[in-house]
Amino acid sequence: TISNYQAPTDLLKEKVILVTGAGDGIGRVAAKTFAAHGATVILLGRTVPKLEAVYDEIEAAGGAKPAILPVDLSEVRWEELEYLAQGVDQEFGRLDGLLHNAGVLGQRTPMANYHYATWQQVMQINVNAAFGLTKAMLPLLEESKAGSVIFTGSGVGLKGRAYWGAYAVSKFATEGMMQTLADEVEGVSNIRVNSINPGATRTNMRAAAYPAEDPASVTTPEDIMPTYLYLMGDDSIGVNGKQFNAQG
Ligand code: NDP
Repeated sequence: TISNYQAPTDLLKEKVILVTGAGDGIGRVAAKTFAAHGATVILLGRTVPKLEAVYDEIEAAGGAKPAILPVDLSEVRWEELEYLAQGVDQEFGRLDGLLHNAGVLGQRTPMANYHYATWQQVMQINVNAAFGLTKAMLPLLEESKAGSVIFTGSGVGLKGRAYWGAYAVSKFATEGMMQTLADEVEGVSNIRVNSINPGATRTNMRAAAYPAEDPASVTTPEDIMPTYLYLMGDDSIGVNGKQFNAQG
């Protein structure tokens, strides 16, 4: 199965891949894993020291020199995203992969109590920023022989659950964005678009959502990388519009 996919070590050689939320959690491990498989990674995130640490780890491991894009997706303007795309164009001339991974949990509370401002922020980071970044990067993805866009969903974005509020709604929207874009590119572009539900994974977000849980009992980000590698690499060419569970 895909969650057991064994990637050749040179799977992503020559590929340029942008990862959002690359400074921590799943994004950090995904960026390092892509680099370990030959990719040049562009690390996008809001906390520069975290991105610099990932940069150093990739260089120390002998990976291709990464790039850092410090961006706070909660307040980014559309023009800035276009400007970022110009920068990627100048530096690399194309983009082969885009992993939309950055996300926030928001509040865990009934809708009746949910703060408007928090709702808006969750939708901004998890949905609107992903749309803007996708739109800005599409021309560069078209320049790739086989561009792969991966969105990050969640179990609560497939079946709603009490008290998950904007997070659940944002993840439903994410699946909708994935399906809509996938249908647009189907048969007319070299781009493919899919989504991954990581499943319960040992990160700060998971610990915030389940404070009573022993983190040692939760699957690590490293464990779920086969699905990320499969969808970024050329073995998934032709796979489009599909939703994957990284834990099988
Ligand atoms: P973490 O909270 O560990 O990491 C999230 C990353 O997103 C961090 O690097 C964070 O940056 C970045 N980020 C958050 N807000 C912004 C922003 N405004 N601008 C730029 N970057 C931002 O979460 P996970 O690694 O657990 O989650 C990764 C993805 O997986 C998310 O989309 C999440 O919804 C999804 N997911 C996770 C599950 C899990 O069990 N862990 C289960 C299902 C889905 P910083 O470190 O600077 O805050």
